[in-house]
Amino acid sequence: MKPQFHPTLVNGPLGDPAVFVDFFFERRALLFDLGEIGCLPPRKILRLSHVFISHTHMDHFIGFDHLVRICLGREKKLRLFGPPGFLDQVWHRLAAYTWNLVENYPTDFTIAATELHPDGKALEAEVHCCRGFRSEGNAAFTVTEGVLLDEEGFRVRSVFLDHKIPCLAYTLEEKNHVNIMKNRLDELGFPVGAWLAELKRAVLREEPGETPFRIWWRENGRVAERWMPLGDLRSRVLRVVPGQKITYVTDAVYSPENAEKIVALARGADYLFIEASFLHEEAERAAVKCHLTAHQAGEMARRAGAVRVTPFHFSPRYTGMEELLTREMEEAFAGNVSLSAEYADEPRYPEHFS
Ligand SMILES: [Zn+2]
Ligand SMILES: [Zn+2]
Repeated sequence: MKPQFHPTLVNGPLGDPAVFVDFFFERRALLFDLGEIGCLPPRKILRLSHVFISHTHMDHFIGFDHLVRICLGREKKLRLFGPPGFLDQVWHRLAAYTWNLVENYPTDFTIAATELHPDGKALEAEVHCCRGFRSEGNAAFTVTEGVLLDEEGFRVRSVFLDHKIPCLAYTLEEKNHVNIMKNRLDELGFPVGAWLAELKRAVLREEPGETPFRIWWRENGRVAERWMPLGDLRSRVLRVVPGQKITYVTDAVYSPENAEKIVALARGADYLFIEASFLHEEAERAAVKCHLTAHQAGEMARRAGAVRVTPFHFSPRYTGMEELLTREMEEAFAGNVSLSAEYADEPRYPEHFS
């Protein structure tokens, strides 16, 4: 199966958090978190359609100005998602600059920002470059089961974690992946063509099996066609397999509630990006700073049954010793060690998180 998404950690494990998810079959990309993104080439930044921000601690949001600067003067709409207070923060960042000349630009760069709340309420507003980025009225709506984006091929879901403030973790789930069995097509005498894309779409939309489906192609200057029930066609020429899943988890204290949410969100992920800020010998420091240890990250990845795990957001104190964190995470992921009973039963985190 050809993967549709290609995720990469933008700055390596010690740098600011940001995971760039490139699309293989489209000039498009998504970004999880917006730390420094200066090392991303502008052509990649310009592919971004949606940016999902966990929270607005500086290391997760400092790339905003760079992003706006690259997109200015382009006909482009960018959608941003963030935690409570996010709309004001976006407008304040924009209000820090003078925009008297942009109204003459022939293009209109638009930012649509959505502020999410733990109770499922959301606020959305847009600003336009051609109107000097003045905030224009909020729309309120409710997010169901954390689903922020639900497109034909994939969806993005979020959950709130506790980081002493609400902090969002995200997962990108490709819907079922439809493969065409070329040999079966040949057996039926159906040539490849535009009808196959329509067939894939009909199957992904889960249209009823008895729906008549038109197979058509051009032959000797005229259109030839056959009709078959969708279900027959599906079983004879397609193979439907589960799609890719990419989960992004950062900045969370280790608590039973957070652990359950993280494990559920990352269940079966093909790629799990998870913060591993401290070695487990510094578990108390990690708890005070509301971060995970490498051991906790690996343990949750193992419980989630993730296929691959990329630890990141290492504390700068481990510069030159990154290998220690990676190894600790990998050992827990492989199940070679487990949390001490004392720690597992009664995590030591400060009272205000309980
Ligand atoms: Zn933080
Ligand atoms: Zn952070």
